[in-house]
Amino acid sequence: MGVKTREDYQKLLKYSKEELTRLQALPLEDKVALSKVRIQEWYEYWQGKVSVSFSGGKDSTVLLHLVRSLYPEVPAIYADTGMELASVKEFIKSTPNVVRLKPEMNFRQVIDTYGWVFPSKNVAMYVSDARRGVPYAVMMFEGKHRDGSPSVFNRDRYARWKKLIDAPFKISEKCCHVMKEAPLDKYHKETGRKTYIGLLACESKRREEAWRKTGCNAFDSKKATSKPLSFWMEQDVLAYIKREGLKIADAYGEIVEEKGKLKTTGEHRTGCIFCLIGTHLTKPNRIQRLKEIEPAKYKYCIEQLGMDEVMTWLNIPH
Ligand code: SF4
Repeated sequence: MGVKTREDYQKLLKYSKEELTRLQALPLEDKVALSKVRIQEWYEYWQGKVSVSFSGGKDSTVLLHLVRSLYPEVPAIYADTGMELASVKEFIKSTPNVVRLKPEMNFRQVIDTYGWVFPSKNVAMYVSDARRGVPYAVMMFEGKHRDGSPSVFNRDRYARWKKLIDAPFKISEKCCHVMKEAPLDKYHKETGRKTYIGLLACESKRREEAWRKTGCNAFDSKKATSKPLSFWMEQDVLAYIKREGLKIADAYGEIVEEKGKLKTTGEHRTGCIFCLIGTHLTKPNRIQRLKEIEPAKYKYCIEQLGMDEVMTWLNIPH
């Protein structure tokens, strides 16, 4: 069995890119109204057996606020990876009706067993496949199609990461699954609840294509999920927080306007503090910022988790 080609994926898309662009251009008021409609549809379809996946980040905070503005009793579900900033943990603790789930492994066990996720989940997955000699993955890092013919897409997207196949540490995409998805899946299976997730399509090609396949409410997907903020942009999230006076984790600092755009004075994003995904793209990167914000945790990951060796090999400042 091989991977699906770009053409295979294109055939599965139900909505056009233009439709997404049109929704993304709506004023905030209209987005709020449309998101509430999607939230209502989901709630009614599952007869109230729903939950909100909550990370303590700004997107899921906005989502939780919207859902609870209609249905105050809906629980928030939090997969506790043990890798949040202290202020995010505090914020989650102060949020009412949050169910905390623990993964079966801690982060050290995950990297020892499955390896690091870098530079993205997608590339890490193919690196792991290529190391096991899976032919299509080997071809991708050669910049070729499965049949060996040249592929511009694979050349641009994967060939530059070919060196990762020989990295002296484990690499795979499994971390998020073990630490977040598996505990959430278990919870949803046990309770029968179907979850809302605060993902924005603008954040990645993968998320955009996921929306184009199902729209916001994926009723019939294998893993039924609702993403009512799909067509929001980061500016909408910040504007909503400001307008509604929502409390967010202290790590973000204040929301201020600069050159006509809203921004946070502290962290731009929260999430797993030891995550290597995307650390080659930002300056300073997440690990460098951690050194400033929580030096003890920085010392732990550099010295105890072996991140110094990994980042040095990857040539990423830390
Ligand atoms: S965000 Fe990164 S560190 Fe956190 S669970 Fe996913 S891969 Fe692991």
